[in-house]
Order: sequence, then structure tokens, then C-alpha cells
Amino acid sequence: MRVLVVEDEQELAETIRDGLSREGFTVDLAHDGTEGLWIATEKPHGAYDAVVLDIMLPGLSGYEVCRQLRARGVWTPVLMLTAKDGEHDEADALDLGADDYMVKPFSFVVLIAHLRALIRRGAPERPAILSAGDLTLDPAQRRVCRGDTHIPVTPREFALLEFLLRNRGRAVTKTAIIENVWDAHFTGDPNIIEVYVGYLRKKIDHPFGRNAIETVRGAGYRLAAGG
Ligand code: CA
Repeated sequence: MRVLVVEDEQELAETIRDGLSREGFTVDLAHDGTEGLWIATEKPHGAYDAVVLDIMLPGLSGYEVCRQLRARGVWTPVLMLTAKDGEHDEADALDLGADDYMVKPFSFVVLIAHLRALIRRGAPERPAILSAGDLTLDPAQRRVCRGDTHIPVTPREFALLEFLLRNRGRAVTKTAIIENVWDAHFTGDPNIIEVYVGYLRKKIDHPFGRNAIETVRGAGYRLAAGG
């Protein structure tokens, strides 16, 4: 069993790794949210049986990592570590797609028990296929199709299309797109959205003579409900 541990407190991270290794787990460590998200997203699906995710992390918070993992179709079970008396609680963690949580400091025996139970339960229920007309996106399989034609897309294009599909028929602002498809701390050029919308149009619209992704002047973009 392979577990990714995302924890910025070096000593605690190493203690968890050593303890889990003794129990037969293979453990990879990440020391901040950005690294954790990257590792969990770049590895092939199913590479990890579980992710142990601290909430208070430099880079991206554990909440943000969890939310983005789910948004990108990564359904690996997540166990969140919350600090006692922290400003967040269990409800926040579970709302954002975590499967279990533990309050620090925790006993190692209890951590192992939680992890084993989590891995036995397996990945959480996967979301349904999203569609607009004959355009479909399967978040679990990470597959986009126009009718029967499979359309290969990059992870970022996938995330953008998924967000547009979840809001199909509604205009979404560039700010909302940045926050959901990039992240809330994005500081780059927002014109990047136009670039990616262009990439998507070349894949899901132009070859099929469609215009599903509409530009809404002064507002943003809208995916036509009919695809
Ligand atoms: Ca921390």
C-alpha cells in the first residue's frame, strides 16, 4: 500500500513515514501544499491508496489541495490532519472532499487504524458524467467525448471544461474560472483563460462545426446547455 503524506512539520512527517513503513506501507512525503497537489496529480491514477493531508500547510492549504484534487478527478481517499482548536473543523474537511480526519496530536495506533479502514472502504463514490448535448465529460475516467469521438485534452483543459460543464447554460466570470481551475492565489496573467478557451474550442467545437463555448461580453464565458 502506498501513501502520500503531505505535512510541513519535518519531524512529524518523518515520524509518520517511519511508523507507516514499519506497518508495511510505502510512503512518499511532500512538505507543502503545492508539492503535495503536484505529486498527487501527476502520478498515474491509483498510484496512492490514500493521502494523509495536513490542513495548515505553506503554499496551498490542505483544504485547497483536497478541493483541487477532487476538481481534477483524483478520488484517492484523503485523511486530513487538523490542529486542535484550529479555526476549521471536521465539517469543513468533509465538505471539501476529505474522507476522514484526525485531530493532532494523535496516537499512531489510531492513525494506522483510520488509514486501514479508509483504504478498505476504497475511493469515494465518483461523480456522474457531465454532459451538454452530445458533449460528455467523465470525471472518474477523465474522458471527454463529442458523440462517440474521444477527444484527448490536457489536465488543465479538462479542469476548465469540467468547470464550464458544471455551470452549463450560465455565464461564468474569469475570476471564477481562475479560482476554480487555477487557484485562488493565482498571480499570473488572467489572459491565460482566453488561451485555454482557444485550445478547448479547437478540440471540442471547431472540428465539429460547433460553438459551444460562448464569449459573454463583459462577463466571461458560457457553455451552451445544448453543447
Ligand atoms: Ca502544518
